[in-house]
Amino acid sequence: MASAAQTVLPSGSGSRLLRRFVLWLLVLVCCLGLALLVWRWTENAAIDKLRLAGAQRLDSYAVSLENLLSKYDFLPGTLELNKDVIALLQQPDDELLRAEVNAHLEQLNKLSKSTTIYIVNLQGLTQASSNWREPDSFVGDNVAFRPYVRDALRRTPGGFYGVGTTRGEPGYFFAHGIYHNGHMLGVATVKVNIEKLEKGWVQGTDKVMLTDAHGVVFLSSVPDWKYHALAPLEPAVLQELEVSRQYFSHALLPLGLRELRQLDNGASIVATPAPAERTRMLSQTRSLSPRKWQFVYLSDLAPAEASARNAFLFTWLSEALLVMLVLYARQRRRLGRQRQRARLDLQRAYDHLETMVAERTASLQQMTHNLSEENVVRRHAEQKLRQAQSDLVQAGKMAVLGQMSAGITHELNQPLTALRTMSDNARVLIERGRLDEAKGNLTTISQLIARMGALTGQLRQFARKADASLKPVPVAAAITAALFLVERRVEQERVNFRMSMLSQGVHALCDSNRLEQVLVNLFTNALDAMDGCETRQLTVSVTRSFQKAMIAVSDTGPGIPEAIRNHLFEPFFTTKPQGQGLGLGLAISEQIIREFGGMLLVESTTAGGARFIIELPIAEPETT
Ligand code: ADP
Repeated sequence: MASAAQTVLPSGSGSRLLRRFVLWLLVLVCCLGLALLVWRWTENAAIDKLRLAGAQRLDSYAVSLENLLSKYDFLPGTLELNKDVIALLQQPDDELLRAEVNAHLEQLNKLSKSTTIYIVNLQGLTQASSNWREPDSFVGDNVAFRPYVRDALRRTPGGFYGVGTTRGEPGYFFAHGIYHNGHMLGVATVKVNIEKLEKGWVQGTDKVMLTDAHGVVFLSSVPDWKYHALAPLEPAVLQELEVSRQYFSHALLPLGLRELRQLDNGASIVATPAPAERTRMLSQTRSLSPRKWQFVYLSDLAPAEASARNAFLFTWLSEALLVMLVLYARQRRRLGRQRQRARLDLQRAYDHLETMVAERTASLQQMTHNLSEENVVRRHAEQKLRQAQSDLVQAGKMAVLGQMSAGITHELNQPLTALRTMSDNARVLIERGRLDEAKGNLTTISQLIARMGALTGQLRQFARKADASLKPVPVAAAITAALFLVERRVEQERVNFRMSMLSQGVHALCDSNRLEQVLVNLFTNALDAMDGCETRQLTVSVTRSFQKAMIAVSDTGPGIPEAIRNHLFEPFFTTKPQGQGLGLGLAISEQIIREFGGMLLVESTTAGGARFIIELPIAEPETT
């Protein structure tokens, strides 16, 4: 269930995701497009710069070549001014003359720093040469097949670059007809080495080539490229070059430059041939018109490509940075909005809290009001309870009196009977004149009446409603008063009563009437318990311990079984037969003592009887 719920996305969030994806794709494509544009633009700008530099180089190379060649242009023509040269051409067998011309040519060659200077007759046979001393001297060689000789003989003086047929040394050949009195006698030829120019062409990784009219490379800053054709040569051209032996025995294979892209103004981007250094280069050409030669300048594109690549990367990084900045700004805005929302929520919560506090305060006030009302009700109830308790105490008291009524009646009946008998006797004694005896009888009668008056007075005192206020009460007096009410029973039931005042003159803070009520209860219970027992001993002891007065009432009855001890102080708990016990005595007594601020405890005596202990606060006796 849970996994199914996870895989199902709400359609709204799905389309939002798709929209976001498309947007980011668009941003990516735009960034890539812009970076590519920058790449292209930077590359083009770098190529333009390379073209400008290349064009300048080509111009300077062309000028230096022309300067070099033009220096020798006039040299062959000057030889027809030499008489010996003319004479030798006229008398080709004059060896002396040949030697002189050879020496002259040798000297001239040295001065002009050319490679070789030689004189050819109209048949193409070399008559004299500056290298006459060398073992491979040109003297005697027939060079009629050489195009520059042919051209000169046809009266069109010209130049020619070729590889020497004797030594295989390349050079530029200048040829000029030698005329005497308007007649051509032969041809003067100067060979110049222009290979030294190549050395000045080496510029870093750039490459320079000089090609002839057929596109054959004869000078190059890359030695391996020499005597290769820019494009494959036609068979007819190959044949012609074979005949003229312009490039001696070189095969003139295609160089293998591959054009990659055509640019305007004859420039192009090419791939260089050697596999090891196959790089893209910018190719520019410059024609040297009279000789139909062509300079090819190849600029290395690697720096341009590197700067284009760098520009691409820079743009790409800048775009990434920009995107990140935009994202950062958006994030900040979102955070700001969230913070604003949180602030509003907080404010709302605060307002809500305030309302709640106000409501709670109002309800608290209401509760306080209710409480004070309840307090009034409670106080009222407490009053009622106190009243009820007091009534109960009174009822308990009445119950004790009720229980004692038989005894009291007996107590009053006996003196009354005695009174009747004695008053009758007194009358008889007076009639008989026995006045002393009658007087004695009357004294006894008055004693009996006094005793009855004391008893009824004690009963009235016991039955009156107790005073609520607490006063210092002499404990011994209270015990005596209580004993007075049960005295008769004690005597009748032959109970041994013992009072031990371990502390004299002890006063307790209580109400004497109610304390007597408690003591009468305890005495009555003790007498009830000892009814039928062999030993009947009722002991009351008074002790003082710290601030407490302790009254212990012990008997020699059967004691209180453990099972009922916890229920003793419960109202209406009694073990006495119906009509004899109400079960209120101990409950009321305990309550009375508690109201005095004391405690009513029960324990067993060592003899097995029961002992009730009243603990009351000590009070100093009133001085008045
Ligand atoms: P009542 O005397 O009406 O039964 P009380 O509250 O005075 O009510 O006493 C409760 C019960 O406690 C008595 O029924 C009795 O079983 C027991 N009791 C009280 N005093 C003693 C005593 N001194 N010895 C043994 N049992 C006692």
